[in-house]
Amino acid sequence: MRLILTYSFSILFFIAQGQITKPEVTEVWEPEPRVVSVDGKSRIPSDAIVLFDGSDLSQWQKRYSDEPAEWQIEDDFMTVVGGTGDIKTKQKFGSCQLHLEWRTPAKVEGESQGRGNSGVFFQELYEVQILDNYNNRTYSNGQAASIYKQHIPLVNACSPPGEWQTYDIIFTAPIFNDDGIKVASGFLTVMHNGVVVQNHSELYGSTEYIGMPKNIKHENGSIILQDHGNPVSYRNVWLREL
Ligand code: MG
Repeated sequence: MRLILTYSFSILFFIAQGQITKPEVTEVWEPEPRVVSVDGKSRIPSDAIVLFDGSDLSQWQKRYSDEPAEWQIEDDFMTVVGGTGDIKTKQKFGSCQLHLEWRTPAKVEGESQGRGNSGVFFQELYEVQILDNYNNRTYSNGQAASIYKQHIPLVNACSPPGEWQTYDIIFTAPIFNDDGIKVASGFLTVMHNGVVVQNHSELYGSTEYIGMPKNIKHENGSIILQDHGNPVSYRNVWLREL
């Protein structure tokens, strides 16, 4: 941002000075963005890290131990096996772009937070809620596509239970200084089924079930998928580091 401001002010300065007389003066040629291609069939970018393609859970492990994830794989998707626990990526990430597809059970059971509950966490601390909120009221800052207990989604873009839904999420990691003080907030932008539901929403800290957000210095962390006891399914999970 500082760079952009400096650049903008420089431009204004030169305009004020009447020194820009040719369009070439304000052309920037370096650096040149590297090429990323998108696969025509899968739509996965060429620089993406594929975290789950339906074949195995080799990129994942249990959240609280090094043991293999025990969620069930069927066809091209995996499903939460209630009680086996949250799963996390073996690899740790900072700022990133994440794509995932999720599906809540076609057979509707439970209500409010008890219907098709799961969730995706960034750096093991910041949850974007996954929940069946198709004709299912719950507290607004805890419904699908909320940043749990911090930001209500702009709209409810939920598809009916049993249908595949997409999340495309941009996560900007918070920055802490050497003294452990947070000097820059994290942010989340979320598109749910292609609809913007979080637009550069500021993270106030960790997304807590009980109590206030915490801001304890941390490094990069895993992506976590939550076992909330409901058989929510996932497929086509990929990530681009930013
Ligand atoms: Mg959840």
